[in-house]
Amino acid sequence: MTDPFTIPTQHWHRLGDGRIQCDVCPRACKLHERQRGLCFVRGRFDDQIVLTSYGRSSGFCVDPVEKKPLNHFLPGSAVLSFGTAGCNLACKFCQNWDISKSRETDTLASRATPVDIARVADELGCRSVAFTYNDPTIFWEYAADVADACHQRGIKAIAVTAGYMCAEPRAEFYRHIDAANVDLKAFTEDFYRKVCVGHLADVLDTLAYLCRETDVWVEITTLLIPGYNDSDTEIAAECAWIAENLGVDVPVHFTAFHPDYKMTDTPPTPPSTLSRARRIGIGEGLRYVYTGNVHDPDGGTTVCPGCGSAVVVRDWYAMRRYALSDDGRCRGCGFQLAGVYDGPVGHWGQRRLPLLTSLSQM
Ligand code: SF4
Repeated sequence: MTDPFTIPTQHWHRLGDGRIQCDVCPRACKLHERQRGLCFVRGRFDDQIVLTSYGRSSGFCVDPVEKKPLNHFLPGSAVLSFGTAGCNLACKFCQNWDISKSRETDTLASRATPVDIARVADELGCRSVAFTYNDPTIFWEYAADVADACHQRGIKAIAVTAGYMCAEPRAEFYRHIDAANVDLKAFTEDFYRKVCVGHLADVLDTLAYLCRETDVWVEITTLLIPGYNDSDTEIAAECAWIAENLGVDVPVHFTAFHPDYKMTDTPPTPPSTLSRARRIGIGEGLRYVYTGNVHDPDGGTTVCPGCGSAVVVRDWYAMRRYALSDDGRCRGCGFQLAGVYDGPVGHWGQRRLPLLTSLSQM
């Protein structure tokens, strides 16, 4: 507890056998003294559960907000992305495994206070900060403080998450958050159990909570993995559930898998699979279904539900056409598109600007 990056936490309780259970995520790690949870950044020290990565980052980058991906949240704007280390799921296909599976001392190079992060985001012209690369669930106290510091400068906060979080800390965390992209990794319990070592039901519960009980703007991403979660039946079931339980205005992104981590023998997702998923989603009544990680102007286009015209055309993260008013109405028919629109479209483009230095030196 003398480590300046370690803070005490709430949301844990003692068990009858002397262990302490962490109640932040459904993993429910039960820990003896000096043991760490599966996420590695939370552990039991001095007879309590602590967070050991407060104020440390694994790196910063300025990206287009479309890369999170969020297509209906301050379009075209720049976002300051950062992450810490560790993760509370164990997905065999993890596309960020160097961060999510790292031991924090290997990766957490940059010291970054919430005030520093907000200041740098402001100076770089970012309209939001995103907790990404690894899941903010496991460092939510730090993320919430960063969000508060950003709000003081008029900068919004985005969580990129798997949604695997218990109800009480979830309610506390999302009070600080403006938008979320939730990874819905598949639509079967079997996939979550075997491939992610988690449970689908908990993620659906988070999605329902966010969409029904908060003002957080939500978009969903499903990484389609050949042979695992890409059947017509499963994609249709997922989209039908979203339409019925969350609403047809929730944007869904179907993105391409690249062989990585423990699934290097699985082939990459063919673009035709993504287009097929998009057609299925639209067929199930969803208004905004996108493809990602591929060049696909059709799959990156927002069609106005009012008049059917292509109001936003994107290729990868570049904006090719933008025909919405400053408050998100179709310039042709006036239809109000779902999302968060606040002023003219941004012009960050598809640039990616890594920040290599420690923020306190900037
Ligand atoms: S947040 Fe970490 S320590 Fe807590 S239950 Fe989840 S994986 Fe375990």
